[in-house]
Amino acid sequence: MALIVQKFGGSSVADAESIQRVARRIVETHEAGNEVVVVVSAMGDSTDELLDLASECTASPAPRELDMLLTAGERISMALLAMTIKGMDVDAFSFTGSQAGMITTPDHGSAKIVDVTPGRVREALDKGAVAIVAGFQGFSRDSRDITTLGRGGSDTTAVALAAALNADVCEIYTDVDGVFTTDPRMVPLARKIDSITAEEMLELAASGAKVLHLRAVEYARRHGVVLHVRSSFTGEEGTIVYDPAKGHPKGVQVEESVITGIAAEKSEAKITVGGVPDVPGKAAQIFEVVAKTDANIDIIVQNISEEGRTDISFTVPVTDGERVLAALEAEREALGFGRLKMDDQIAKIAVVGAGMRTSTGVSAQLFRALYDAGINIEMISTSEIRISVVTRADRMEEAVRVLHTAFGLDAEDEATVYAGTGR
Ligand code: ASP
Ligand code: MG
Repeated sequence: MALIVQKFGGSSVADAESIQRVARRIVETHEAGNEVVVVVSAMGDSTDELLDLASECTASPAPRELDMLLTAGERISMALLAMTIKGMDVDAFSFTGSQAGMITTPDHGSAKIVDVTPGRVREALDKGAVAIVAGFQGFSRDSRDITTLGRGGSDTTAVALAAALNADVCEIYTDVDGVFTTDPRMVPLARKIDSITAEEMLELAASGAKVLHLRAVEYARRHGVVLHVRSSFTGEEGTIVYDPAKGHPKGVQVEESVITGIAAEKSEAKITVGGVPDVPGKAAQIFEVVAKTDANIDIIVQNISEEGRTDISFTVPVTDGERVLAALEAEREALGFGRLKMDDQIAKIAVVGAGMRTSTGVSAQLFRALYDAGINIEMISTSEIRISVVTRADRMEEAVRVLHTAFGLDAEDEATVYAGTGR
């Protein structure tokens, strides 16, 4: 008997019919002799709708109340799913995050899991029932309040439960067939990846791939949880995310590819601090100021200096841009820079592959492909298994398509996207 955690996202439970389809799948898994724990998101885009409703009521909703509101979304889907399963003559119990023992920090809207005590989930399984847990929510012992983990947090709930219950696999059901070489909504010739290492998945998720929540991938990697990303619309095998040091869960011998996938996003802005005196300590001063804003810096580029002055550019999430600008402006005199500007019309494209470690010429091939398409590269950064470039935002899709072709990732047929808006 295996213990399987199954997570269903909003688009998989968008209406009654979808809930019935999901319930049938859960019942099948249960009837095949497995213990099944289900984590469910709010129906369709209902989290967004609740957020819209809140901002219609008041300009800045209190974070505690916003969490109360948003957690109601998952409560609706978990109860509907549990009653549907019961209607199919299989015992099922739904649990809120706090009932399921998801203990978090008190930070509303961005709580971190500090402990998982799934006693009631275990009890339900011991009774032979299916346990349905509300995703994305928890409870803080410090504040005694209900919290949420941040948008898309249900993946993390599922992985954390899988780790705490020592599950054999954590299945993440979604509206595409698995993890693709790039977003099939953007590049129809994207190809499904059968197996990917947790390390590569982490780089892709961190670079904007939306199929899995970054924190869930981090959690899975840290706790050695095997993920299976698959479609809730078909019975097909999806993508296995695993740790090669522990071996493939199905014993498959996976050939390492130079490029596994491409991620892209427009969520960052480039800030340029111009005319910075080129003396030791300036970069430290500038980034100390930025650090105080809590903005997450990504790519940093410093130009060669001319007449003792240089330019430093870096990217931060667009949402932090104004705050960073204001902080730098406030220290203009002490920092001694000249120009300060922000550009939010940029895109970041990341090409990821574990095989990059041992092959040469990958960057040359990447730059050549973009050059041939007349796409200008504004910034570059690399890790051992990733090359990221910044381009104009309006060239992003084209850049991804061109690179997808250049690295031989194109499939023969177009990918199927079953539902959802991908948001
Ligand atoms: N319902 C929440 C959201 O839309 C959590 C999730 O879907 O994972 O962000
Ligand atoms: Mg959602």
